Amino acid sequence: MPVKIAGESLNACSGCEISLLDMGENFLKLLEVVQIVHLPLLMDSKHIENLQNAQVLELPKADIGLVSGSIKTRENLQLALAMRESCDFIIGMGTCATHGGIPALANSYTNEQIMTCCFKTDNTDETDRFPTELVPGLLESCHALDEKIKVDFYLPGCPPHPDHLFNLICALEKGEDYVLPEKSVCDNCSAQREGIGEVTNLKRPLKLPDWKDSQDLENPDQFKCFIEQGFLCMGPVTRDGCGGDKDLARCITAGMPCRGCYGPIQHQGNQKLGILNALSSNGIDIGSLPEMVSLLRFSGGHGRLRPISLKSRKHK
Ligand code: SF4
Ligand code: SF4
Ligand code: SF4
Repeated sequence: MPVKIAGESLNACSGCEISLLDMGENFLKLLEVVQIVHLPLLMDSKHIENLQNAQVLELPKADIGLVSGSIKTRENLQLALAMRESCDFIIGMGTCATHGGIPALANSYTNEQIMTCCFKTDNTDETDRFPTELVPGLLESCHALDEKIKVDFYLPGCPPHPDHLFNLICALEKGEDYVLPEKSVCDNCSAQREGIGEVTNLKRPLKLPDWKDSQDLENPDQFKCFIEQGFLCMGPVTRDGCGGDKDLARCITAGMPCRGCYGPIQHQGNQKLGILNALSSNGIDIGSLPEMVSLLRFSGGHGRLRPISLKSRKHK
């Protein structure tokens, strides 16, 4: 009997599902041992149109449930609960599901501020009310998946690397354990590190980094650590893995600092506190950060980000 897989996308961008397709030939190998019974972004599954009035949302039973996205609307919550009910094993797929991801940046605003920004701007027609009919209501906060349902496996990444998706599903199909390493992007970065330098203020990322000898992007040991050059790099506080089986951090090999998309190294970690600590340890004045909300740009779920006044936005 093939292993049955179901998938749902909550408050998400569909990038995680594209990562499934990005497996390439491995996706075809996977289809030899699994059966996809429900995955609206990749196959024809009709249930959304009945969602508004459905008291109980029934999804096909599956052994493995892939759930991408965070939970911000009542519809997201209803789908998450239905997936938990219909799937034996839930994978939180992607950093939105594991830590709130980009959508959880909304947590630094109230719902009133968000709706005002969308529906009462200089460029929109004047309105005296926000839409309430035929749209799912907003929850007060944007939640990571495990704030609302039990999650059996966390697969972070924005999106997760296709190799990890493939390896994880294959391991589950064989009844084997699968463990992602708990190490940082820095642990796997061969940039030259010389200790605390003379740089004390962060530079605008628009400035080019200094390359040691050449711009050979396949050999990151040819350049000096971004933080030591004064560029914000989230490598010290971000879980390694974005390179998949190739094991090279994607942004670093592209000549860009890490933005933190794999979330904290340990599930409960706090990327904001961690990077402030790392910057200070490198002699960088944290007062030179232009703002601090985006230090949690991938992990603002679990109550980490809260609405703040515009006045104090820089220092929160
Ligand atoms: S984790 Fe990234 S790729 Fe996946 S749904 Fe969220 S924003 Fe999209
Ligand atoms: S801070 Fe960035 S550039 Fe420096 S070692 Fe870590 S990942 Fe590499
Ligand atoms: S280097 Fe950092 S931001 Fe870039 S893909 Fe890897 S974890 Fe994500």
